[in-house]
Amino acid sequence: MNYQARDSNKELPVENGTPDLPKFAVLQLSGCAGCEVSLLNTSDWVDKFQLVYMPLVVSTHHIPDDVQVLLVSGGVSNAEDAYNLRQAARKVKKVIAVGTCAISGGVSNLGDRDDVRELFLSRYDRINLPRLLAKTHPVDAFVDVELYLPGCPPTPELFTAALTDSRGFKAAAIVCAECRRQKLANMRPKHLTGFRHGSVLPDVCLINQGFLCVGTSTRGGCRAICTRPGHPCVGCRGPSNLLIEKGSAVWLENIQRVFEHMTDIPADELNEALRSPQLSMFLFQFSDYAGGDRPPRSKDKVL
Ligand code: SF4
Ligand code: SF4
Repeated sequence: MNYQARDSNKELPVENGTPDLPKFAVLQLSGCAGCEVSLLNTSDWVDKFQLVYMPLVVSTHHIPDDVQVLLVSGGVSNAEDAYNLRQAARKVKKVIAVGTCAISGGVSNLGDRDDVRELFLSRYDRINLPRLLAKTHPVDAFVDVELYLPGCPPTPELFTAALTDSRGFKAAAIVCAECRRQKLANMRPKHLTGFRHGSVLPDVCLINQGFLCVGTSTRGGCRAICTRPGHPCVGCRGPSNLLIEKGSAVWLENIQRVFEHMTDIPADELNEALRSPQLSMFLFQFSDYAGGDRPPRSKDKVL
């Protein structure tokens, strides 16, 4: 069986494909499948790897025993996620956690609220669903992870680098380094601009325009694909190398300092927005998704 990559005429070798190529599998836990779609948006890995398991596109029910790399997307939200993850990790040489959900929060984190849990459990007809865990966990709460690939979803190039050349890939220090917008000293907003208010100037930093952009402290490597067309960075790539091994408070302070320096937005207004559930969905360091007292991840393991 073969599948065609969207941007190429190459065929993706899958089960019973080229036997010499190293094999990889994709395990999807509680997420949205956006990571899988991003992986399929590149064919650069096709000549180097053989995809043998990915329920979204490959019709096979189990992960073979000779798989080198396991990509895991989504968070661990229920007993079935935990079981599948442990079983899969036993079979493979290397686990790569891909996407914000698997690493730190994102959409999975939406379930970590009492009102959501109450609503879910209040339905009497949910008896055949897997047991919901008390909270959603990152993948490395259950298995050893060799590489973290943050993003929501990670761009196709990041997937290619993770599979083929993770040591050779160097992410830009922060999103601003890949965003061509200019920071202006004489344009200081007094209040935050709502997400859908007004037009966006094409070349001027979004902070100067009053948008809550956290690209100044967020890891680059995404090509600034959100901020260039005018969408503020919400931090899905996680903290930059300078901040990643520090606590969440340091990241928050860093963002606040940038806004103090560039705007006249009152601190209360900024704090309230930074801690809003919508933004903290991605700014995982502000939630306890990563496990509270877990030591920070080494920056050397993050792509
Ligand atoms: S990280 Fe983003 S794209 Fe990937 S599964 Fe989670 S919500 Fe979907
Ligand atoms: S818009 Fe955001 S990412 Fe771009 S330069 Fe300004 S702060 Fe940085």
